[in-house]
Amino acid sequence: MEVVSAAERRPTRQITVGDVTVGGDSPITVQSMTITKTSDVEGTLQQIYALAAAGADIVRCTCNEIEAAEGLAQIVPRSPVPIIADIHHQYRMAMAAMEAGVDGLRLNPGNIRKPEHIKAVAREAKDRNLPIRIGVNAGSLDPKLYEKYGGATPEAMVESAQTEMQYFDEVGFDLIKISVKASSVPLMVESYRALAEVTDYPLHLGVTEAGPPPAGLIKATAGIATLLMEGIGDTIRYSLTADPVEEAKAGRQLLEALGLRERKNIDLIACPSCGRAEVDVIKVANDAMEAFGEREIPLQVAVMGCVVNGPGEARDADIGIAAGNKRGHLFIKGQNVAVVPESEMVDQLVEWAEFIHEHGTEA
Ligand code: SF4
Repeated sequence: MEVVSAAERRPTRQITVGDVTVGGDSPITVQSMTITKTSDVEGTLQQIYALAAAGADIVRCTCNEIEAAEGLAQIVPRSPVPIIADIHHQYRMAMAAMEAGVDGLRLNPGNIRKPEHIKAVAREAKDRNLPIRIGVNAGSLDPKLYEKYGGATPEAMVESAQTEMQYFDEVGFDLIKISVKASSVPLMVESYRALAEVTDYPLHLGVTEAGPPPAGLIKATAGIATLLMEGIGDTIRYSLTADPVEEAKAGRQLLEALGLRERKNIDLIACPSCGRAEVDVIKVANDAMEAFGEREIPLQVAVMGCVVNGPGEARDADIGIAAGNKRGHLFIKGQNVAVVPESEMVDQLVEWAEFIHEHGTEA
């Protein structure tokens, strides 16, 4: 399979979620979901702000009861990012969420199955110019499809999405994005590939119920990154059993690592260390990551344990330390400017990063 860049993304239609565009040539966006009760307005807003700060472009909140819809009416006007209401089972909750002013809906075709209900929601969304995600999930597939295909196969997932698309089409609604998530990475990847063959609506990628980190991070990354590198995917969500801030961070970091979004924070390159290391690379790298924290300094910093790859990597980074003789050779934009003891490495890296970020390298 040929490796592709963002420029070779599969062409998709573009929709708008609040003030964020999804699909077409818009940047791939990061989504996450709150885990508070949506009726808890202050608690939910606090989480939304934390998610936005961690890199979420769009946040989803459940709308499972009328109190949640009432909460959304207060949350949406105060949210820093567009809010999507997550709807299962009750189409009336979709109506209530739209009335509350949300920026979009997610409907699960596996548990809202009456065509007249689906069409009623689509008509209302059309009148309000609101997008809907058709959110197919292997774990809640329509039992009829499950039976027809003998399980949650890629074909069953795609047919579920297509049936919903057909209902939307019948009422002239096309502000659509689609997901076909599964907890199995191979099933998820195959389902999205099959879906990408039959539609040009933007796709929302995710490995559902990926579980706690680190295994959940690996599963989600395996599925999402595979598809993104094939040019498939317009918006992503990590579904982790963790503080959702971890989801937003992971999503953002993945897009930065793949070169699909501009870097916001430090990119730390560090060798894994080995018997040749002249300093405690693991400690220096971890201390440096902690010291940089969430600071928005989009520079590349290298921490290398010896002279094998050290000078090369350190020279190529904005700031680098290559250890030798128990000390570190400090490189700034390729120039070896100083020799620092191990105890001062982290402080020097942070000080230089701040300086370069503020003044550039010409100062
Ligand atoms: Fe080992 Fe040196 Fe490579 Fe680090 S840079 S892994 S210390 S050989």
